[in-house]
Amino acid sequence: MSLYNMTIDGGETTAASWFDVVNPATGEVFAQAPQCTQDQLDDAIASAARAFVSWGVSDDSVRRAALQGIANALIAAQLELAELVTKEQGKPLMAAAFEVTETARWFSYFAELPLQPETLQDDARGQAVFVRRPLGVVAAITPWNFPLLLLGMKLAPALLAGNTIVLKPSPFTPLSTLAAGRIIAGHLPPGVLNVVSGGDALGAWMTGHPTVRKISFTGSVATGKAVAAAASPDLKRITLELGGNDAAIVLDDADPSRVAAGIFWGAFTNNGQICAGIKRVYVPDRLHDAVVEALAERARRARVGNGMDDGVQLGPINNKPQFERVSSLVADALADGALAAAGGHAMDRPGYFFEPTILHEAREGMRIVDEEQFGPALPVLRYSDLDEAIARANATPYGLSGSVWSSDEERAARVAARLDCGSAYVNTHLVVQPHLPFGGWKWSGIGTENGPWGLDAFCSLQVRYCPRGRS
Ligand code: NAD
Repeated sequence: MSLYNMTIDGGETTAASWFDVVNPATGEVFAQAPQCTQDQLDDAIASAARAFVSWGVSDDSVRRAALQGIANALIAAQLELAELVTKEQGKPLMAAAFEVTETARWFSYFAELPLQPETLQDDARGQAVFVRRPLGVVAAITPWNFPLLLLGMKLAPALLAGNTIVLKPSPFTPLSTLAAGRIIAGHLPPGVLNVVSGGDALGAWMTGHPTVRKISFTGSVATGKAVAAAASPDLKRITLELGGNDAAIVLDDADPSRVAAGIFWGAFTNNGQICAGIKRVYVPDRLHDAVVEALAERARRARVGNGMDDGVQLGPINNKPQFERVSSLVADALADGALAAAGGHAMDRPGYFFEPTILHEAREGMRIVDEEQFGPALPVLRYSDLDEAIARANATPYGLSGSVWSSDEERAARVAARLDCGSAYVNTHLVVQPHLPFGGWKWSGIGTENGPWGLDAFCSLQVRYCPRGRS
């Protein structure tokens, strides 16, 4: 059984107890991760606070060099990290390898992002300069769907700004973060990055700790609300990247087989376990049957299997509770009148495999339409009037992203402009880039990641004003 250590104060730290890590492709335990104690968390946070004293005022060229060194080191460890991601998360090895390069890309991007003071006023009355100062100790908490990419989206801007960090992965996918954390910490002074692992209680200890000045959280809406509540007594800064229920709207001029490819992968990438993936599709009556059939055809053809095997496109669902949730959402929809054009059932094999599923005759009021399914099952809903479809797409507490599919880009862009969400796409979905602001409206989150906006989220903004002609 492989054991993995935490990184606290620059050194490898073991634990008195361990928890099991399951390979979702087999359903079997294949490794154990350390169960961080409250005392060890206190040590990690104290170490981060000590490290902040010098890291927070270090020259930004030092921090940029560290970020670029981290990017290079992650690429050098690509295969080792990708295999861990596949074993604990389930995604195909090629997708895991891509996740590693994407993570490195975030570090490289922030290594170059300007951080210089900006002069806002320089005239006879005075000079105003605007600077970004680091916040202090950051608690970074990640979910299980993209364990490495999501840590990159937090760590890279937090480190550039001069913060120090305690990072906690999901208990379902701790290993790749523990391994990447050791690599990343090796490019930083001791204590600048500490990586701890444990269950949900560990996350709650982190968010309630008085030394922490900022919580950067990615996960579910329910936990996000608990994090916001935990942050409020100390008025800690928060960035919350939460769930989504993205709608795709197909316009009546679309070519069904062309849009089906984009919509299918917009929904089924990472086996549907993606916050900003398509979760509902609105199709006009005229195109309904053709779009359903084109999506179903792709679902039937998708190669599902163990992510370590060649040619696999979709892996298992990551964990048993999520597998049971997706199974029950699909079963409820079928019992409620939806029809499966493809899939509809768990697969008869070990692990947490579910058939890629296309449901039609779905409607609002079904849980799979109203809630975030976060798995390989996509409901298709009919519409007859476009205004009504837009209103239905927006009638959700979520607001992460949405897309419009059409042969007429300008028309689609006018519809996209009416979607209430942080990212509105035309003829595509799932475009998350280091330079593009990413964040959710409504219950999908608070704050923004990526680009200068994501950097500002890890900074205290300070105006330095000096009047002229008074001395
Ligand atoms: P989750 O909320 O259950 O867990 C996320 C993390 O929070 C884990 O590390 C968990 O241990 C920790 N945690 C749990 N309870 C906590 C508490 N009380 N205080 C602090 N931390 C706590 O989410 P999940 O099931 O791991 O991930 C799936 C969810 O994440 C989906 O809803 C998905 O949409 C969302 N997600 C959002 C984004 C985004 O950028 N918007 C990206 C990926 C995933």
